[in-house]
Amino acid sequence: MRCPICEGREVSRFYRTQFSATPYFYRCNACGYCFVWPRPERSYSEQQGDATDAHKNEVLSWDYYSKIHNFLPQKGRFRFLEVGASTGYFSKLIEDRCDAEVISIEMDVKAACYAETRLDLVVYAEPFESFRSDQSFDVIFSGHVIEHVFDRFEYLRKCSDLLSEKGVLIFLTPNADAWKQIMLHDEWGGVPNGDTHNFFQENQLLIFWRNWGWPLVPMRR
Ligand SMILES: [Zn+2]
Repeated sequence: MRCPICEGREVSRFYRTQFSATPYFYRCNACGYCFVWPRPERSYSEQQGDATDAHKNEVLSWDYYSKIHNFLPQKGRFRFLEVGASTGYFSKLIEDRCDAEVISIEMDVKAACYAETRLDLVVYAEPFESFRSDQSFDVIFSGHVIEHVFDRFEYLRKCSDLLSEKGVLIFLTPNADAWKQIMLHDEWGGVPNGDTHNFFQENQLLIFWRNWGWPLVPMRR
């Protein structure tokens, strides 16, 4: 097999997964990208995940905010899209703390309904792939979503289509180089449900960006 990102031929077994017919995660020796092989069915990945845990979503929203607020536009009103908003607490936090028009997408209807009725958010209860908007977004954010996405190339292209010219794309995702992974291996919290397909590190995303001819901008840390 070849690495889907850099096409490197040398890969190592990373650890065993809980997918029924696709037992191993592999890691590319060249770029570090981690992926399940053979790939699980799309229908399998779409059945996974529980987006309705409101308490967890509320607790995590503060953690997300502390990690990303430095990357948000600091002046003027901006349009913010959260993909995979769960029960909406992070979107609500952005709406409360920033001068932002916030739109959320959550394909779990129950979670979307919670966000709409309890938090008074604008929520589209549909898959990201079918979402359409006449206006672009200045920030597109997803917290712990991309590692579960079946077609990450399609997902990134969709983000690219919806992003404004100077827009910012922000993902929070587990880091396969984290000390917890090194210490705990397959007991690592980055893979709690066995429904994770990909681990991205900065290195692979830079390869994506370059291959697609997208501009790279200096990061504020
Ligand atoms: Zn690679």
